[in-house]
Amino acid sequence: MIDNDVVRTRMAPSPTGELHIGGLRTLLYDYALAKKNNGQFILRIEDTDQKRLVLGSQERILQVIKDYGLSWDEGPDIGGSYGPYVQTERLEIYQKYIKELLDKGLAYRCFCTEDRLTKMRETQKANKQVPRYDQHCLHLTPEEIQKNLDNKIPYTIRMTIPRNQTIIFEDLIRGKIKFNTNDIDDQVLIKSNGVPTYHFAVVVDDHLMKITHVFRGEEWLTSAPKHLLLYQYFGWEPPLFAHLTVLLNPDGKGKLSKRTGSTHARAFLDEGYLPEAMLNFLMLLGWNPGDDREFFTLDEFVQAFNTDHLHKKSPIFDRKKLDYLNGYYLRQKTDDELFALFKKYLPQATDEQIKVLVPVLKERIVKLSDLVSQTKFLFEDVEYDKDLLLKKGTSPENAKLMLTKTKEILKNFDDIQNRIMEMVKENNWNLGEYFMVFRVAICGSVFTPPVVECLPALGQEKTLSKLQIAINKLS
Ligand code: GLU
Repeated sequence: MIDNDVVRTRMAPSPTGELHIGGLRTLLYDYALAKKNNGQFILRIEDTDQKRLVLGSQERILQVIKDYGLSWDEGPDIGGSYGPYVQTERLEIYQKYIKELLDKGLAYRCFCTEDRLTKMRETQKANKQVPRYDQHCLHLTPEEIQKNLDNKIPYTIRMTIPRNQTIIFEDLIRGKIKFNTNDIDDQVLIKSNGVPTYHFAVVVDDHLMKITHVFRGEEWLTSAPKHLLLYQYFGWEPPLFAHLTVLLNPDGKGKLSKRTGSTHARAFLDEGYLPEAMLNFLMLLGWNPGDDREFFTLDEFVQAFNTDHLHKKSPIFDRKKLDYLNGYYLRQKTDDELFALFKKYLPQATDEQIKVLVPVLKERIVKLSDLVSQTKFLFEDVEYDKDLLLKKGTSPENAKLMLTKTKEILKNFDDIQNRIMEMVKENNWNLGEYFMVFRVAICGSVFTPPVVECLPALGQEKTLSKLQIAINKLS
């Protein structure tokens, strides 16, 4: 490990879109390891792949991390001793280090045209060989190189990969990993526009920023030997690597994908998952505390986290478990806290309506966006078919009678619950049947919140008008 007194971790998102929920998990582990060891967590923006940049994505990534209640000690917005923290602002730094490799013969200029490279790959494929650069330019003489430079022929810079060497490293999750250099391509380190590739920038930056531990997705595992070689070329001590598992769809089929719901960190917040529930869910998605605890605040997680209990097996993104955790955290909230959250999801509701809804609905929602569908009837006359009123086998005449009598007694809007129950009893109506008719008349749906308890939020005028609409349907 790097001879640092302090643990320094980093998260290095590329601003190519929204932060993926898997990225947030990586960040959480980075954050926890740094904080547990009184170290620092660094945020760095890896924007060297200019073609894939999405405008505004960097700002959105920073914001969503903050919205989850996480923060960084050094980063593009707050600076730090090892900045800048955006790779395209560090281009001069990379130039200095690539020159060192060129001078040592550990990297070389490649003047091959795209056309030649494509043909080369096609031939290799046809011969059933793994496509890789054939080192054509590695063998150019100094004179040939100079001539090309004088003629301003565009070039990339590739790393020289030795043949027949074994690279071994110890991954914190996967243990000892071996690679043969014969399987490694002469990776482009600097593109023809002078901008580094991820592989070069990540090594230079992790070194200069004194990063001690790198958590990243397992898709980077095959890149690790290239990175380790670069550390070797520079004579630098590499950080410790932990290549995290991928998240799987709830049905276990493939990588977590939109097919089974949201995948972006922002989308979960928009749907009304609480940050603390999401974080708790992610904590256990690839790590366990070694006992059966399942609820963790961020501080508790920081204290409990270690790299020994990181999982090797890809976890299933169990959305039911997430719903369960969200329900748990929602119920930890006071009514005042819920008032503010309800207000955010029901902007058209008055404060009075929200006061009625909080106690009625807080036990019945999985996530805050459920409020929107559950309270639709408060803000509009939901369209429904007359047959829905008769779902329990009620005759149209009876249903009409039930609603007419209900309308009559609701001319007095006090003590509604008791007076409705008395009416049902007096008329000898079946309770389930009555409430189906009433519920559909008020809400336009059979799945609704406790309808009588919601009436004060609906108000007398609207209640009576909805009853009349239902009566008209039955006439
Ligand atoms: N920029 C890379 C990504 O967004 C980060 C990989 C790494 O952490 O080294 O996937």
